[in-house]
Amino acid sequence: MKQTRIIERAEEAYAYPLLIKQLLHTPMHWAPQQEIVYRDIKRLTYREMYERIHRLAGALAAAGVGPGDVVAVLDWDSHRYLECFYAVPMLGAILHTVNIRLSPEQILFTMNHAEDAVVLVNDEFLPLLEEIAPRLDTVGKYILLTDQEETPDSGLEFWGEYEQMLAAAPAEFEFADFDENSQATLFYTTGTTGDPKGVYFSHRQLVLHTLAVGMTLGGLAQSGLNSGQVYMPVTPMFHVHAWGMPFVSTLLGIKQIYPGRYEPEMLLKLVDKEGVTFSHCVPTILHMLLTDPLAQELDLSGWTVNIGGAALPRGLAKLAHQHGITVYQGYGMSETCPVLTVAMLKPHMWDWDVQQQLDYQLTAGFPIPLVDLQISDPQGEELPLDGASAGEITVRAPWLSQGYYKNPGGSKDLWAGGRLHTGDIAARDAEGYVKISDRLKDVIKSGGEWISSLDMESLISQHPAVSEAAVIGIPDEKWGERPACLVVLQPGAEADPGDIQDFLGGFVEQGRISKWAVPRTVLIVEEIPKTSVGKIDKKLIRRQMA
Ligand code: AMP
Repeated sequence: MKQTRIIERAEEAYAYPLLIKQLLHTPMHWAPQQEIVYRDIKRLTYREMYERIHRLAGALAAAGVGPGDVVAVLDWDSHRYLECFYAVPMLGAILHTVNIRLSPEQILFTMNHAEDAVVLVNDEFLPLLEEIAPRLDTVGKYILLTDQEETPDSGLEFWGEYEQMLAAAPAEFEFADFDENSQATLFYTTGTTGDPKGVYFSHRQLVLHTLAVGMTLGGLAQSGLNSGQVYMPVTPMFHVHAWGMPFVSTLLGIKQIYPGRYEPEMLLKLVDKEGVTFSHCVPTILHMLLTDPLAQELDLSGWTVNIGGAALPRGLAKLAHQHGITVYQGYGMSETCPVLTVAMLKPHMWDWDVQQQLDYQLTAGFPIPLVDLQISDPQGEELPLDGASAGEITVRAPWLSQGYYKNPGGSKDLWAGGRLHTGDIAARDAEGYVKISDRLKDVIKSGGEWISSLDMESLISQHPAVSEAAVIGIPDEKWGERPACLVVLQPGAEADPGDIQDFLGGFVEQGRISKWAVPRTVLIVEEIPKTSVGKIDKKLIRRQMA
């Protein structure tokens, strides 16, 4: 039998490995004067950033960093972090973006597991690092990141301070080529049980993810992301490379704003002052911003916020609309780099009314270019596009973590049958939009019927007195499980559990939910527990309720 014909190559033909450094060609010609802004502290041009990436690489190489070394960063979102996104992998080294919101013991675990050799640390995290440093097995050098003039007192001995190291390094660095499948990044995701799990991405994966996300947001959208816009992440850079958007924004030559530590006032002021047009965040962060007193004074219209990481409740989407903010969902996970789907509206929906459009913008959307997404039953049979048949989402795409780092058992489960198992339950409607009803772990099964905690949260969020809601299943002798709900009220608003139940009773009468879906237990609370990346922490709520 004949075989495919591998292309011929001229002796001197360049095979062009998909390396992160290749993302910098276009912006340096297209937008060299474009700005990168750090809080209200620093402004640089793309040209300056480019030089700083070279200087950083030279400085790290002088510190002994080379191919295969792991370089950890502990920082808030900054222009320096952006420079690390490029310089570290471009050296052939691996960028470990440390989740600084984990507990000190978990951070210690991840840094030892990753075998970090060099650590770049923002002075705010020095107390944390000093506490765990004696138990860090592999770290040889610490590099200080600071906005202060003077070096802070620390028990750690620094190899150098970032800005001084850059100033002393040569303005040009020769970045060598290497295999595009070389590992570029590594970070950890916390599961329901056990130690954090490491996920990792190659240069090729990050380049392809950048192209596909850029094409989706720029090409498939009604008013696409383009180089005239202004981008600010509101998802930390340690969490899945801020969803890959710093790479996309740089490639498109977009003005980028890095807000440092997430303080609502600073974020809102930057949106206003710098004219931010595009951000992304988890719903709870959007909620925090829109309920801040400053948000009531500013004009936030013209801001588009892509929501992912958790379902966007309808009540919150309506609040965003009241501020003139465009919101739509995306879906993905740490293991998937992360973007899998985005809820863009198809052209025939562009003149629909806002509420009708929201029905689709509040789904997870449809797969972005190159993503092969299936929703199948437990036997692996694909389910019909009827909006009702629910099963697990499995995927294939060029940018999925090929396993969990040094965790063969977890890797095997993740990739059972040759498709990545997301652990998310969803259905697809006739338009092809994916609607997630729950994580497998969060599914509520009451009297043989599945109740979607996400749907319930979205309905409860529409009660006029409700600010935030979380729905979980609690054990019930008769029904197996019954839904229970935690509710935070709007400031100054009054409602008791009966009001919430009556409100949901209205949806029962309309036939939109079954009467079993109405939580028998409704707790009005001051605050809903959140995870290290700001999502509702259902694991903790279940423990507390038990
Ligand atoms: P993480 O790995 O921490 O980013 O979490 C990924 C998980 O967040 C997914 O497996 C989903 O359960 C959840 N998730 C992400 N995006 C959405 C979305 N748009 N709607 C509902 N759940 C989501």
